[in-house]
Amino acid sequence: MKFAVTHRDGAARRGRLTLPHGEVDTPQFMPVGTVASVKAIAPDDLQAIGAQIILGNTYHLLLRPGPALVQEMGGLHRFMSWEKNVLTDSGGFQVYSLAEQRKISEEGAVFSSHLDGSRQELTPEKATRIQLQLGSDILMAFDECPPSQSPRAYHEESLERTTRWERRCQQTWLAEDPAREHALFGIVQGGLHRDLRERHAAEIAALDLPGNALGGFSVGEEPQAMWEGVAHAAPLLPQDKPRYLMGVGTPEDLLRCALAGIDLFDCVLPTRVARNGLLFTRRGRLQIKAARYAKDPRPPDDACGCYTCRTFSRAYLRHLFAARELLAFRLNSIHNLCFYLDLMRELRAAIERGEAKAYAGRMLERFALGE
Ligand SMILES: [Zn+2]
Repeated sequence: MKFAVTHRDGAARRGRLTLPHGEVDTPQFMPVGTVASVKAIAPDDLQAIGAQIILGNTYHLLLRPGPALVQEMGGLHRFMSWEKNVLTDSGGFQVYSLAEQRKISEEGAVFSSHLDGSRQELTPEKATRIQLQLGSDILMAFDECPPSQSPRAYHEESLERTTRWERRCQQTWLAEDPAREHALFGIVQGGLHRDLRERHAAEIAALDLPGNALGGFSVGEEPQAMWEGVAHAAPLLPQDKPRYLMGVGTPEDLLRCALAGIDLFDCVLPTRVARNGLLFTRRGRLQIKAARYAKDPRPPDDACGCYTCRTFSRAYLRHLFAARELLAFRLNSIHNLCFYLDLMRELRAAIERGEAKAYAGRMLERFALGE
């Protein structure tokens, strides 16, 4: 993996990440393909909107269909017919948010599957091996993500354990991927405690992994607190390596956090809300079910070049949604993902011109006004 920052504008960076399955321009958004599928979207839709990297969830793939089957079918890329890059998380976040009866120990996490109650185990070694079996271009270290309202003492104990876990991930990765075909990223936790973020960022940076991430944001705190936390934590991560903010967020979050120096984002939000009829546009949010779109011949966003906007009217999309037609899921998801990728593309161009703040300010204003 190679990473070069080509332009800086304030704290914002425009860079290029070279991975085994192609280049990734940063800042970049990664659509989420939870169980080896970006919900309602086929790989050719993703190609058409210019996606360069998607995310897969280790927890979900562990439960179904299982990493051994994916490996036997040629790895995640071949299994799902996706030729570009894949980043997988370590499964840690879902163990805390989805699994039942979880028990954390120094060894790792034991939990019950949310699908069938079966007993499962994830350790730093196992999470790393699974991601290597899947064939991910970027693997994430196994960490613990405590709820932001956990007592400070718990955060401290968890951070110390997470550092030990990440070191074990690194040892497994070094031993089992000697050619360094796959890049391992470390994760910095610490909730909203600034001194804990600083301490953990120093510990994780010292591991000298190819990239670093911020975890534990957007887990229930107010947006303003998250933006301030990210603005404080992003510069703590090494300058010359990619910085990934996990699981965030809204278009406003992406703009503000990219201005703070974040390079990579992922979130289920654009596809999840698309299935509920919420479309993001350059004029703000659009609820397609609203009666005022019943006879509206315009596309959702007349500045968008996606298949949905080139081809269909708001009136038709409203009809599909009202009739609960499956096509609504696909068309709405294509548009929202295209909007997110365009937002990042426009922001990259603004960073190159030294106009990142002005661009973000204009977009934030439009979102505040709403459609
Ligand atoms: Zn569109």
